[in-house]
Amino acid sequence: MKKDIGTDSSGQFSKEELENALAEEQFTVWLQPKYNLATEEVCGAEALVRWQRNKTQIICPEQFIADMEKDNLLSELDYFVWEKTCQIIHDWFQAGKLPYAISVNVSTASLMNGQLVSFLVGLISKYGISPSFLQLEITENAYLHAPEHVENVIKSLHDIGFSVIMDDFGSGYSSLNTLKRIQIDALKLDMKYLPIKDRTENDEIILVSVIKMANWLGMSVIAEGVETRRQKDFLQGAGCDSVQGHFFSEAMSLEEYEARYVYHTTVVKETTSIDNNGIVPKFNMTILVIDDDEMSREILQYIFQELYHVHMCGSAEEGLAYLKRNANRVKLILTDNFMPGMSGMEFLRHCKQDQVLKVIPQIMITTSDETSDQLEAFRAGAYDYITKPFVREIVMTRVMHIMEISCRTSIFDIIEQKYKQKPELDAATSLLNKVAFSDLSNRIIETFPNEQQALFVIDIDDFKKVNDVHGHLIGDQIIRCVADELTNAFRKTDLIGRFGGDEFVVLATKIQSQDTAKNKAAEIIKNIMFSSVKQFNINTSISVGLAFSEKKDTLNTLFSRADKALYDAKNTGKGKTVVYGESIPPITDDDKPVILICSEDEQVYSTIALSYGEGAGFIRIENVNQLEQAFKQYHSRIVTACIDMQKDIPPEMEFFQQFLLQKSKGGGIPLVAICREGDMRNLKAALEFPIYDVMVIPPPIGSIERILSRAIMEVGIHER
Ligand code: C2E
Ligand code: MG
Ligand code: MG
Repeated sequence: MKKDIGTDSSGQFSKEELENALAEEQFTVWLQPKYNLATEEVCGAEALVRWQRNKTQIICPEQFIADMEKDNLLSELDYFVWEKTCQIIHDWFQAGKLPYAISVNVSTASLMNGQLVSFLVGLISKYGISPSFLQLEITENAYLHAPEHVENVIKSLHDIGFSVIMDDFGSGYSSLNTLKRIQIDALKLDMKYLPIKDRTENDEIILVSVIKMANWLGMSVIAEGVETRRQKDFLQGAGCDSVQGHFFSEAMSLEEYEARYVYHTTVVKETTSIDNNGIVPKFNMTILVIDDDEMSREILQYIFQELYHVHMCGSAEEGLAYLKRNANRVKLILTDNFMPGMSGMEFLRHCKQDQVLKVIPQIMITTSDETSDQLEAFRAGAYDYITKPFVREIVMTRVMHIMEISCRTSIFDIIEQKYKQKPELDAATSLLNKVAFSDLSNRIIETFPNEQQALFVIDIDDFKKVNDVHGHLIGDQIIRCVADELTNAFRKTDLIGRFGGDEFVVLATKIQSQDTAKNKAAEIIKNIMFSSVKQFNINTSISVGLAFSEKKDTLNTLFSRADKALYDAKNTGKGKTVVYGESIPPITDDDKPVILICSEDEQVYSTIALSYGEGAGFIRIENVNQLEQAFKQYHSRIVTACIDMQKDIPPEMEFFQQFLLQKSKGGGIPLVAICREGDMRNLKAALEFPIYDVMVIPPPIGSIERILSRAIMEVGIHER
């Protein structure tokens, strides 16, 4: 059946020649099958035009499309192909066969044409077919050319029920971020643009992440140009939904396609109607319903058919057989309990033992609302429990909630697996190291800017002392102990990293509320203090700095806030959490002297606080309110105030310098001026005030401790 594919590569056809070819209908539609990667069965086709120039010469589009575009004939060719495609689908229906959806290409010129939507509606009405059978391939470049217009067109097409595929994704520069804005149903990755022949591990990670992210955004992923088994295997493992390419099949004439594929299928019924509220099913996500009661199955099918592909089985055994082949596309299982043969409970237990099935979330659906049954289901591995008769909203909310979590988890699973094979993992703890943590966190923060993430920066208290006194072996064990505690305490979808030494970081994604994160911090502090580290007979604790993401955050900005909170936590005693932006909890150690550091510069504060050690509590003051609050809270415990003499002293700075002077009348509190090295203006401004000493930044080794100890002693002489 192979044809003599034309080799005319000049691409130079005159307008007249092309117009003539259109008028004489020398063009024909060929079909290239698409394969479902899970089943390796045909699941659709793409219509590709061929120019049958004479009896023996068939010319491929690459040789004439550019000329057609130049001569403004491409829209006409598109319309011709679409109409022929509708005719094909119509004929299949007439012959009693259930066709698969066929995708057609939409050129940029057609996309820009204001009549596009009405023309397509006219076509499907003329041939009496549902829009769900005609998929539209729009190239990434057309989108980049006129994003707003394309967004509107896509919206109109969706409202009617067409699905839209972004063709040649990867050839342009759009990011997944752009994709979030437009309602694309499927992403078509062209292997040509994502060469995985000489792929590096990084390419693989990118490809896997793109596939997972696309899935998460509700798009399915088709890979085209798949030529080798290696590519196919890789895509299968990466969770790609379907493929098109010479490895499976080249494009072929209609007769050949029909002989091979269409007449193997039997007609069922046309399920999708035009009126589906514009919601396009996300067929890459399958929900498996197992119930012997046909009525229940039908109701669940009805509830979810517009959102997901619903596969129904009448028994647990049948469900397991389906899962054998399709486990990777099933995102949720709803199972009844009381069924002839294997019960739902037994099914759950079976899944729990199976490496592949145990990661698919399961919901038990049953008529029994006995507490003991519910508990048994949860113990057997159920994620949730829904009682019959179904309340549509409740079933819907619970299922969608789990679907979302399940998709997220799978993104992280894959990414984590990828990183596990790489040196990006911290050797001692198997947590992500700084590079990997930063990379992944940035990706999450960028991709979900509207969700609130919490960043925990965690540091072991007195860790240096532990190492000095008990040795490094114990030190290492404590590090691992904290790592384990964090791994147990956080969700799979949270990122946990070790930034080196005794510093840990956790990005808790999409947190329910700020309180949840605060409680989590309190819980890990408690667990570490009172249980896990206790085994070494060592009293140690951790301090936590916590910050919440805001729109436009990057990891850096979020980290610097959490880090500042950590410093504050460290300086208010051990085992504390400080939330950035909230008032600092009181220093608990009643005997500890308090030193105020009035500076806008985060680094000045941390340099001083860290060099001095734990003999005093440090509070950073940024404005007059905080200063007054500190005085109220600590009055006699304040032993020294260090004031940053910045070059251009801001008005409020001047104000609280005055404020301090009043309070320190009679030599109450010695003031230490912080000056920048070599900055005479700094120094002169400082000398205007009756200061006790000058601290130069950056400080010579040992100077901070010396100056502050002397200042503290000064207080002792005057007051105590
Ligand atoms: P496209 O839409 O990205 O279509 C995929 C192209 O890749 C097809 O080439 C297909 O035959 C080819 N292909 C499929 N599998 C493999 C593979 O494993 N290896 C390789 N090397 N190639 C593979 P084709 O049919 O020559 O079409 C080329 C392009 O011409 C299409 O790219 C599309 O942009 C355009 N085109 C084709 N038909 C139409 C049409 O009706 N209207 C418009 N506007 N453009 C069309
Ligand atoms: Mg295409
Ligand atoms: Mg393509």
